[in-house]
Amino acid sequence: MESPTVHHERLVAEHSAHNYRPLPVVIAHGEGAWVTDVEGRRYLDLLAGYSALNFGHSNPDLLAAAHAQLDRVTLTSRAFGNDQLGPFCAELSALLGKDLVLPMNTGAEAVETGLKVARKWGYEVKGVPADRARVVVAAEGFHGRTISVVSFSTDPEARGGFGPFTPGFDVVPYGDAEALRAAMTDETVAVLLEPVQGEAGVIVPPAGYLADVRSLCTAANVLFVADEVQSGLGRTGHVLATRAEGVDADVYLLGKALGGGVLPVSAVVADRDVLGVLRPGQHGSTFGGNPLACAVGRAVVRLLEEGSVLSHTRTLGAVLHERLRGMRGLTAVRGRGLWAGIDVDPALGTGREVSERLARAGVLTKDTHGPTLRLAPPLVISEPDLHLALDTLEHTLRG
Ligand SMILES: *Cc1c(COP(=O)(O)O)cnc(C)c1O
Repeated sequence: MESPTVHHERLVAEHSAHNYRPLPVVIAHGEGAWVTDVEGRRYLDLLAGYSALNFGHSNPDLLAAAHAQLDRVTLTSRAFGNDQLGPFCAELSALLGKDLVLPMNTGAEAVETGLKVARKWGYEVKGVPADRARVVVAAEGFHGRTISVVSFSTDPEARGGFGPFTPGFDVVPYGDAEALRAAMTDETVAVLLEPVQGEAGVIVPPAGYLADVRSLCTAANVLFVADEVQSGLGRTGHVLATRAEGVDADVYLLGKALGGGVLPVSAVVADRDVLGVLRPGQHGSTFGGNPLACAVGRAVVRLLEEGSVLSHTRTLGAVLHERLRGMRGLTAVRGRGLWAGIDVDPALGTGREVSERLARAGVLTKDTHGPTLRLAPPLVISEPDLHLALDTLEHTLRG
């Protein structure tokens, strides 16, 4: 007889599009940093839904907010008001110190929205001639899967077969302020980049780079659009990875953890002189700003305001990086907070093979590119559980 795992894998193989290649683990239950599969095996989750689960599986505060709202009203559309939208936008904009919030659903939609706003700002405020706006982006970045977003991807897998592409993007190497300066023209309206490149393997830019991006943007009257969909909302031990470097972007793109791992919630956050270019009818989303999403988003904001999750992340982040620094079998370690990209010695196998061995040993993570694994546990992981995961990693790397 088929095992429950094989049964589920067969259904997915036969009836789901093959756009992912998951590890052979079928999860049925999750709580905090732990998940249980359909055979009752338990694992520590060191991927945390690509940081959508920053506050852990089944976070009691987030579930309580969702349950309470489920019993009241879940969707109104923006044709009418709802009593969660205003408080959500007020509380999130206060947390980030910006004037306005534009709620959307997925991260890719936040990126699309940010690009539309930047172009419109370019024409209406900066005075760029019609249809000439350009956006500078960083190579190896990840911003989602829509056609415009993959138009400026440097990953051949993400682009191949999906043309024709949206024009208006200039790609420069990440971390190179001189290249960024050289790419800016009078028609440049925005620089879009991740303050730490997540999918690329948790690439932290050289010290001072984000401050250089800020001053180059200010000098050239260009918007700095920070894609904090993965780096933001606690992952680095700070509300925003840019702010941790003392840098303030003009436009923040949020997603993933904003929905608390419960549902997709994203947002574009900026001051009135930027987001104010949108007027009724010019942009929208049926589900954007729905009361269920806003109620969960408000609970996420409360967790971040309260602050203990951020200090816990900074403390455990130091533990994580201290232990990784000395670990045999790794050729590189990068990261910030509870977020690390580690490159595995090729002699020990590919990233995929090591992640499969780790899964068999009860620790879930996933390779990104070649030898690179990403470690990003829920921020609520306990110190003993973090040590258990790292003991398992250490043991697995010993072969
Ligand atoms: C995941 C991610 C996105 C896309 O978010 P989706 O919700 O998958 O559309 C955009 N930007 C960054 C930096 C991301 O990590």
